[in-house]
Amino acid sequence: MLKVTSDTTTIRNVAVIGSGLAGLTSAIFLGRMGHHVRVFEKSRGPGGRMSSKRVSGGSADIGAQYFTARNPEFLAFLKQHAGTDAFGVWPARFGFQAKDNSWQSFPDENRYVGTPRMTAITRALSAGLDINAEVRIERLIAQGNQWQLECTEGQNRGTFDQVVITAPPAQARDILAASGLDELAGQLTQPVEQILPCWAVAAHFAQPPAEQFDAMRPNSDELYWVANNSSKPGRDDQGQWWVLHATPEWTQEHVDTEADVVSHKLVEAFSALTGTKLEPTETVAHRWLYARSADGEKPGYLLDQQKRIGLAGDWLAGGRVEGAWESASQLVRAMQ
Ligand SMILES: Cc1cc2nc3c(=O)[nH]c(=O)nc-3n(C[C@H](O)[C@H](O)[C@H](O)COP(=O)(O)OP(=O)(O)OC[C@H]3O[C@@H](n4cnc5c(N)ncnc54)[C@H](O)[C@@H]3O)c2cc1C
Repeated sequence: MLKVTSDTTTIRNVAVIGSGLAGLTSAIFLGRMGHHVRVFEKSRGPGGRMSSKRVSGGSADIGAQYFTARNPEFLAFLKQHAGTDAFGVWPARFGFQAKDNSWQSFPDENRYVGTPRMTAITRALSAGLDINAEVRIERLIAQGNQWQLECTEGQNRGTFDQVVITAPPAQARDILAASGLDELAGQLTQPVEQILPCWAVAAHFAQPPAEQFDAMRPNSDELYWVANNSSKPGRDDQGQWWVLHATPEWTQEHVDTEADVVSHKLVEAFSALTGTKLEPTETVAHRWLYARSADGEKPGYLLDQQKRIGLAGDWLAGGRVEGAWESASQLVRAMQ
């Protein structure tokens, strides 16, 4: 676990851009070191891609589906800062479809989810942090040894000694480019090209479609992932909510297709996959332009010590939730 060294640390004002897991982790660790931290988030609340959508009777996780905690320090961090009520193990039956279309079980591993929804974790982590929601940071303006943050409305959002950017690569690059930080922005060219989009659909079935697995990785052109959201711990749904994620290729082809049409097509693909004749009673769709990073280099974080700007996020540490935490932990350690 990161050491707290406030007795030897110079107290600084630090801005964190983004309140997904990487932003919240950075803010918590920096705060523990005694720094004054303000978090800026363009959306209405924290969470980023650990996202849940309110639906009739509850909520459905439309972003990250579950996460691993292979590093015991990650689990310890969550227990300490989110609390054990905010997450739990998802004891689901996980299966994948091989190239010959036969179904096989995923290897056993603890897979965690937020309870009663994915956002419970980021909500709990953000308690006690200074989060400024609905503020999209446009650019950083140099003020001597400090950075002034300007939002899209042109307002000055404060002056800081250090800035941590945890937005996905395309949005991070926009901020850096608008700030004249071209060299740093240039380092993001490849990560920007490697991030993949994803259409997500949550579909409610009044009667449970009988399935061998609760969570599936099909061998399909349309569907990348299919899961019974109602099988996660702490959900109390009437009927079942299923979450369907399209493949990156299908999403790319349908990136401008209307949400209703996307829902219809992905439910059709679900029916073809499972053989269910049941019609959903309700569907909601969400388009992620920046969902997952393709496998690439894993530098962990980017830090320009001289300019006092650090970058963290899943895309710097192999993608996924645990990568976001690893990246932020490594960045803060390097910033000391
Ligand atoms: C559909 C989908 C399925 C996934 N499935 C899984 C899974 O099963 N398991 C797993 O481990 N991972 C999964 N992931 C990936 C996982 O969600 C991410 O790896 C992780 O949540 C990324 O956290 P982060 O903090 O790096 O970035 P984010 O969560 O994207 O946080 C970045 C934040 O920055 C904010 N922001 C951006 N620009 C600005 C700006 N200019 N000013 C202010 N704020 C800004 C954004 O609004 C966002 O809140 C999935 C992702 C998606 C989309």
